[in-house]
Amino acid sequence: MESLIDTNAVRMGRSILHIDINNFYASVEIRDDPSLRDLPVAVCGDREARHGIILAKNYKAKAYGVKTAETIFEAKRKCPDIVLVPSHFEKYEQITIETRKLLSTYSDRVEPFGMDEAWIDISPYAPTSVDTRAIADEIRRKYVSEFGLTASVGASFNKVFAKLGSDMKKPDATTVITPADFRAVVWPLPVDDLLFVGSSTKSTLNARGVKTIGDLANTDEALVRSWLGKNGVALRRAANGLDTSSVVPTGGEGAMKSIGNSFTPPSDINDLDEALALLQSISESVSYRMRKHGVLAGTVVLSVRDNSLITFERQAKLPCPSAIAIELRNAAFELLKANYQWHRPIRSLGIRATALTDAASPLQTSLFLDHEARNRRFSFENAVDEIRNAHGKTSILAGRVFAQKKVEGAIHLDGLYALR
Ligand SMILES: [Mg+2]
Repeated sequence: MESLIDTNAVRMGRSILHIDINNFYASVEIRDDPSLRDLPVAVCGDREARHGIILAKNYKAKAYGVKTAETIFEAKRKCPDIVLVPSHFEKYEQITIETRKLLSTYSDRVEPFGMDEAWIDISPYAPTSVDTRAIADEIRRKYVSEFGLTASVGASFNKVFAKLGSDMKKPDATTVITPADFRAVVWPLPVDDLLFVGSSTKSTLNARGVKTIGDLANTDEALVRSWLGKNGVALRRAANGLDTSSVVPTGGEGAMKSIGNSFTPPSDINDLDEALALLQSISESVSYRMRKHGVLAGTVVLSVRDNSLITFERQAKLPCPSAIAIELRNAAFELLKANYQWHRPIRSLGIRATALTDAASPLQTSLFLDHEARNRRFSFENAVDEIRNAHGKTSILAGRVFAQKKVEGAIHLDGLYALR
């Protein structure tokens, strides 16, 4: 008689999955245009602008050495036949929301990590490694059938090893790391494969002969503390499988910590009028997405990059939580006026809305604001959203944006997008 007990099953303690969509943006573009499937493909911020960068690439482009965040120029030098496709952030965002919804059907403990990654704690439903793998595989199959995207899933008894596992086999694979085999599986890997070991921590460790995760696990704790302080001690514990951090549910819209956009116009910005027009355009694209997601910003962060590529950020708390473009724009403009000396022209500007709250939750109101005017403005901007939804992003433009042709592109929601 066949045994009902799977002898390979190992008790997990906790069962945590880390799901990572493979080459997210590039995979979405290829999914929607299968003629790209066998070509080296990169998704870029803005093909026309001088400083377009690579935001994502597929495996074919990766084989040529093309890297995320390098310039289009560099990528073309490595791979002259590379196919550059523009980004479609609203589409990626929608998929992010849908995938989180799917994950939340498995457990209420889902913690997003960027747009295309998330941890999910399935401990109550998957006591053993066999159950854990079954759920991981099922989620992967659903990503393919429901979203047309492949994902790599790491499954382990803590978050750090789950994350590590999702990097081990790509694409479309599950890697299970159990309390019984983590020493054999994880310890031979380079120490910087461990979450939160950045390049400076890596060089500190490597200089002292600590090359692998196993080396770190087996180095005396006091020694690690003397090199790296208490962060080092935490890393050493993680290397020993002792990471106890929990999956912090921030599911649904609450997962979004900020909504932002930045734009590099085809030529530099030389004065406040041009800057104001660009901020107008960016704040419209940011507030459009905020209204779509039903969130309000408590704080506006302005980022400025001058033409020597020096960047700074300044932030301001809004008098009242808002998704009104003109309020975001004014806050950003005040920050610019107060903080930028115009020693150099500006290369790019960005606005990020943070301290997000649910638009449906009761507002903190300020006595000093004209609520009727704000409501009218909000309705007006909603009407603009509808016109744009029906007739295209540039069907209706603010006068000052129309007057400054070079900032018009910002309304296309290209450029860098922050979701943290
Ligand atoms: Mg990914």
